[in-house]
Amino acid sequence: MKKNKIAGKTMEAWKEEYPLLDKLVSTKEVFWVNPEYESFQTASQQISLNENDVKEAEERLKRFAPYIAKVFPETKEMDGIIESPIVYIPSMRQQLEQVYEQKLPGDFLLKCDSHLPISGSIKARGGIYEVLKHAEELASQHQLLKRGDDYVILDSEKFRSLFSQYSIAVGSTGNLGLSIGIMSAKMGFNVTVHMSADAKQWKKDLLRSKGVTVVEYADDYSKAVEEGRKQAEKDPNCYFIDDENSRDLFLGYAVAASRLKQQLEDLKITIDQDHPLFVYLPCGVGGGPGGVAFGLKLIFRDHVHCFFAEPTHSPCMLIGMMTGLHDKVSVQDFEIDNITAADGLAVGRPSGFVGKVMEPLLSGSYTVSDDKMYRLLRSLADTENIYLEPSALAGMAGPVHLWKSTEGQSYLNHHQLTDKMKKAVHIVWATGGSMVPKEIMEEYYRKGL
Ligand SMILES: *Cc1c(COP(=O)(O)O)cnc(C)c1O
Repeated sequence: MKKNKIAGKTMEAWKEEYPLLDKLVSTKEVFWVNPEYESFQTASQQISLNENDVKEAEERLKRFAPYIAKVFPETKEMDGIIESPIVYIPSMRQQLEQVYEQKLPGDFLLKCDSHLPISGSIKARGGIYEVLKHAEELASQHQLLKRGDDYVILDSEKFRSLFSQYSIAVGSTGNLGLSIGIMSAKMGFNVTVHMSADAKQWKKDLLRSKGVTVVEYADDYSKAVEEGRKQAEKDPNCYFIDDENSRDLFLGYAVAASRLKQQLEDLKITIDQDHPLFVYLPCGVGGGPGGVAFGLKLIFRDHVHCFFAEPTHSPCMLIGMMTGLHDKVSVQDFEIDNITAADGLAVGRPSGFVGKVMEPLLSGSYTVSDDKMYRLLRSLADTENIYLEPSALAGMAGPVHLWKSTEGQSYLNHHQLTDKMKKAVHIVWATGGSMVPKEIMEEYYRKGL
């Protein structure tokens, strides 16, 4: 029998080169330390994006804030800035210590992107940003909008009728579709969301109720994106939001960092040489966690340590980064099925763009079983009364992994962090959940028993 090759090598050869693949292929939980990780000084020279790019995105979101406050009244209190709370989770930390029989020193905080207004997930950052940027470009081309205008004027028939001549398309496992769909429909665009088989019914129903066209596929995320891209190419007035390659999405996510910096200052939390910051980010295709981590590295540099979290059945970014093959391989190539209850993370092929940017910046990555995500979901509800969707719990396993694995210990030793851990700050990035219907959340909660 002829053996199938993966990017020119047999599975055996890959496993020999990267022994961790053995565990990954058998969907066991792993913790991986990134050998390409560099000091920020060195890393920043390899990256084409910088502070100014993020600043520009931040300024654009400020220009749109009066309009957002007007058309989404739930954002009024925040003056149209789409931002989420950050909260201490001391009871959850205790629970983790008990369940995993592991001391976890330092402060634990939860960044509640689950409670971002408009679409209730991290996608309310990048997704909405890219729609706004596109709208601004179109309106400027038609000489209907210029810098200095009060963007509240976008809430009018004149603008809606302009945007109705254009369309927007996107491929999604659900949450990106929600963000792009809701925002685009509000502005007046024709919008089509290409949904993978993982997408939950309630997300499709919600979008249709807002006038969004939802196309469903029996296949996974990569297929939905591919089909979306193909359809969009046929129509010159259609703008395709490319989750696998978009610089704008990435920068929209990166704006989170300066906002977080302010929130930490308000809480009188210092991040410096003696107070390291650890951030755990659930990863699908990579844009969300990559953008946030990039923004954080620009601000906190070597004092922040970013880790990505993926389901054991969809470790696409980990495999892409470890092998250096990025988007040239999928988890399916390695006979991993990409079937997970963490719908937001059900991605088999990572973004090559994000993987390359993150190569010198990411500290490491780990995988979490679906079972564990459900159990953590239930624990967080019981201890802190916060309800998240399964994907959003992937981050919560990070600190335990870091302490319990020999790889995690060696990372701490190597960077002389072990003695500083009492003063460390751990931020678990909660990426979604506030829009999950009650009966579905109850089902999740039951599964966590
Ligand atoms: C999309 C998503 C992520 C990951 O973002 P990517 O850009 O796909 O890496 C994490 N959590 C939730 C809930 C998501 O919807």
